Amino acid sequence: MLLMFKSKMFFLILLLQGLTVAVIPQSHNYFIPRNIQKTYHKQTRQPIGLPGVNYWQNRADYQIEAEIDLETSLLSGEESINYLNQSPDTLDRLVFNLYQDIFRKGNSRDWDLGKEAVNDGTEIQSLTINGIEVDFDNRKQVSRQGTKLVVSLDHPIKPKSANEIKVSWKLQIPDKRTVRMGKYSDSIMFVAYWYPQIAVYDDIDGWDMISYHGSVEFYNEFGNFDVTLHTSSDVVVWATGMLQNGADIYDIGVWTRYQAAQNSDTIVPVIRAVDYRNKQVLRNAAGNTWHFKAEMVPDFTFGLGKGMLWDASTLKLSNSLKKDVLISAVYPQSAVSYNKVAAYSRTSIQFMSDVMPGIPFPYPSMTTFCNGRNSGGMESPMMANNGAPDDEANLFGLTFHEIAHTYMPFMMGTNEKKYAWMDEGWATWWPGLLVDSIFQQHHYQERTVRNFESSAGNETDVPPMILNQLLGSNYSSLRLASYVRPAMAYHFLYDALGNDLFTRALRYYMNVWQTKHPMPMDFIRIFEMVADSDLSWFFNPWLFEQAYPDLGIKKVTADNTIVVENKGGLPLPVSLSVAYTDGTQELFTYSTAVWKNDDKALLIETPSEKHIREITLGDKKVPDVNRKDNYLLLID
Ligand SMILES: [Zn+2]
Repeated sequence: MLLMFKSKMFFLILLLQGLTVAVIPQSHNYFIPRNIQKTYHKQTRQPIGLPGVNYWQNRADYQIEAEIDLETSLLSGEESINYLNQSPDTLDRLVFNLYQDIFRKGNSRDWDLGKEAVNDGTEIQSLTINGIEVDFDNRKQVSRQGTKLVVSLDHPIKPKSANEIKVSWKLQIPDKRTVRMGKYSDSIMFVAYWYPQIAVYDDIDGWDMISYHGSVEFYNEFGNFDVTLHTSSDVVVWATGMLQNGADIYDIGVWTRYQAAQNSDTIVPVIRAVDYRNKQVLRNAAGNTWHFKAEMVPDFTFGLGKGMLWDASTLKLSNSLKKDVLISAVYPQSAVSYNKVAAYSRTSIQFMSDVMPGIPFPYPSMTTFCNGRNSGGMESPMMANNGAPDDEANLFGLTFHEIAHTYMPFMMGTNEKKYAWMDEGWATWWPGLLVDSIFQQHHYQERTVRNFESSAGNETDVPPMILNQLLGSNYSSLRLASYVRPAMAYHFLYDALGNDLFTRALRYYMNVWQTKHPMPMDFIRIFEMVADSDLSWFFNPWLFEQAYPDLGIKKVTADNTIVVENKGGLPLPVSLSVAYTDGTQELFTYSTAVWKNDDKALLIETPSEKHIREITLGDKKVPDVNRKDNYLLLID
């Protein structure tokens, strides 16, 4: 009650002062944290969800040369980073992510990795910043804080300045316990989170100081990558970006098929088992140098292996002026079902480009790399590091899910450390739109509903707006708040707004914020702007509050009005089947928008001259933690 009063007063004051109320629409309807409010005052962001006139973000372009040994798991590298400080701030320190320091002795981890997996972390051999060598013995200047390397600067970095940072380092790629990457067998390795990476410096938190403990994911600046990798002569490498020197590396047959795949809309087996048997894969006996380039990506990863098969084809995007997409599936010969994955990837990318979100795939290549495990997957730009589930619908769903991350968080640059629901929710919801039409026995949507129902409304079901870093290792809460609940939220927002309005809002949001760093309120406010309405009735219970799915038939009045109560407070669609004693039946359906006035109950009038025999509320596609009050038998 007090809150209601306060918010009305706030609105009234704005009106009385004759302020430009339209610029701050419905701002009283959400809790806006103070640090987010500051971004409106600084005008880096606008309260209507658009970047502000003072919006900025920093940029890091990487040139990396590294050597990787599949046998010993050792990686050594040198990099040159061109770091553009586009902020208005003078930076008196630089912060790097050394993600493999999760294995470093003494660091926190969300689960026990075992004694034998613990090591010394990233060994920095030298670091120079704008030509000045950093003294690693000077504890006042250099500190390791979790997976962060913090370097205080005698010569601070000026606003709007370009800076050159050079690092050489060594690393043991994890081969005893893998965490999202590592050595999976003697012949398969996936390398990610491997180079000293400039942490994000943004308009909300300044330096991102959230350390990596395993559960909570990443947040990256955008930039170009020019990467050269040296390997032994018997391994093949696939990576983020486009290979620049394939003709120097591949045997003529592989090279010819690789080029053919770049013009083929059917799947071309680029590397086959027979090519290994005939030793006709790679041409150099003394080792290979792989050169890749990628533009405006937030990260760079690569997979390498011996004896791995490679299928590829090219998808020409009908609605795009951008380049075509080279789609690849790379897999060990033991992963039999993976011969379908290139086609699954095509279907997924085509669907996302044309239908949902209906924005052309933003990169020129996408490789799904199979690590030989039988489940799980991890996304990175243009590369997915996946297992091989036995079930085809699961394999399709996993392939789609990891590729969906290309849009969120990579194209969109969201912060997964705080708001994983801004990417995992989409990557969970979108695949269901296709899986249910291709694999009709799988019931993806119904499974998601049951999954949500099983925990919704429990203490562990916390609002997605709680920062992921605070949930840390609480896996069930993290999973529910990042994947399941937001997937349901997007689904019912789509139901509330309808296809046209929803896709217009989503595309507008994505076009405005691509390659930037959108935050939750940016997303919410753009949907409100496009819908031209206050959607707090929807977003508050789904994202900010501990509301849960529970509709119930409360009563039938004397004049045959059925009262449906929203006991859990989550806006959901209503479908009510009414059977009358004369043998007739009637179905009443309402979209999620039926709750837009924040009503606690819905009154459904039925013909007063009829006698109701029984009423059934809901179906398998709408979550409900208590279905006992969804059925009422009035006359037996
Ligand atoms: Zn995901």
